[in-house]
Amino acid sequence: MSGVLEVVEPATGAVMARVPRAGVDEVDAAVARAKAAFTAWRDVTPGDRTMLMHRLADAIAGEHEELARLEARNAGKPIGDARGEIGMAIDTFRYYAGAPERLLGKTIPVADGVDMTFREPLGVVGLIVPWNFPLTIASWKVAPALAAGNCVVLKPAELTPLTAIDLERIALEAGLPEGVLQVLAGPGTTCGGRLVEHPDVAKIAFTGSTEVGRGIARGAAETIKRVTLELGGKSANVVFADADVEAAAAAAPGAVFGNAGQDCCARSRILVQRSVVEEFIEAMRPHVEGLTVGDPLDDATQMGPLISAGQRESVASFVPDDAPVAIRGSAPEGDGYWFAPVVLAPVANDDRAAREEIFGPVACVIPFEDEAEAVRLANATIYGLSGSVWTRDGGRALRVARAIETGVISINSNSSVRVSTPFGGFKQSGIGRELGPDALDHYTELKNVYYATN
Ligand code: NAD
Repeated sequence: MSGVLEVVEPATGAVMARVPRAGVDEVDAAVARAKAAFTAWRDVTPGDRTMLMHRLADAIAGEHEELARLEARNAGKPIGDARGEIGMAIDTFRYYAGAPERLLGKTIPVADGVDMTFREPLGVVGLIVPWNFPLTIASWKVAPALAAGNCVVLKPAELTPLTAIDLERIALEAGLPEGVLQVLAGPGTTCGGRLVEHPDVAKIAFTGSTEVGRGIARGAAETIKRVTLELGGKSANVVFADADVEAAAAAAPGAVFGNAGQDCCARSRILVQRSVVEEFIEAMRPHVEGLTVGDPLDDATQMGPLISAGQRESVASFVPDDAPVAIRGSAPEGDGYWFAPVVLAPVANDDRAAREEIFGPVACVIPFEDEAEAVRLANATIYGLSGSVWTRDGGRALRVARAIETGVISINSNSSVRVSTPFGGFKQSGIGRELGPDALDHYTELKNVYYATN
């Protein structure tokens, strides 16, 4: 093992765990074990694979509260959110548990024979995940990968490896064969980089920053690996004057400050029709000033600390002394990486705070005149991950939802993900889709078999 990884609790800044730090040698050994386990796992009958995945879901559910508390402490997220996220991970395993018997092919009419298609597993897949929703995002990849018959090497972020390490233990206890799901906690460049270049890894499914995603796409090109990328975002929350402005203003803070803004789906550009900007900001004020920021393990907490000192420094650079702060919430003093939520208004769409993914609790209010300008501003970004449209005009709601270049958009809501519906990005927010039935396509190859009958 290449040493020890110290895991820090963001609410206190203190070390909460020490885990083995995997490097290149550990990746090579894990990939070899996964490759050795693959044929037997691929050949497990669909019914048995379904049963094993249900057992895994049950076993995670058996440790729901312990995992939620661990995630809350390690990622600095409110315990209520952490419970919901572990719940979603369980639901994701249950959803894909039903997949092995539904990986259907086709029969295609051809001359002098029968032509049929099969969905085949890829082999060993490398899954690389970020620190903001550690076990949940891991489950979005692990569950469809296993259901399709692949063996998995999962690399959690070095800041938040603890629930993923537990997942490997739980999977073994639930009866998954050795080598089918392995977890390696290690640095991105060495541990993650080796997975990307390894010739026996057939695919990389990555969630993280657009910058690292570019490097992964380049690295994977060398061995023509399949790649799924879920990257950054700078999503628009478009509020028209004909909307229920109260409801939009009450929902907007949650859409940016959830997970302390460390959310790829954060609707951090709030585009508000100029005639209701003042009304909107005043309606939003109590929801920002009243946010309870504090101890992640307290049930009353709505927002925790940022993940690290470095992240706090990076977020603070977007709120210089002369920033147009319209609303500022509160945050605890003292140890821990605290940052009070902030709404900047008015902001121009090409200001740095409106262009770059801040990944912290900073929202920008950007005024617009009419529908055409709203769509133009919403699309003036390299990203395209999520978004919302608030209006009482049904035709406009659908027109704007269709016109915004984004993978996921909600009307009169700020919800982004559901286990059964596709999630992923347009433009530089990514390639491929997770969740829903479509994700299985990314963990299988399509094989075409022709059987001559003449
Ligand atoms: P990151 O890109 O720094 O790291 C993500 C993962 O990649 C980590 O496990 C890291 O160790 C690994 N990594 C880093 N360098 C690597 C390399 N050279 N080769 C291989 N692996 C490497 O991202 P982060 O800071 O952990 O997470 C924040 C980012 O993730 C934000 O940009 C956010 O928008 C994005 N994100 C996207 C989604 C989505 O679904 N689109 C979801 C959550 C987070």
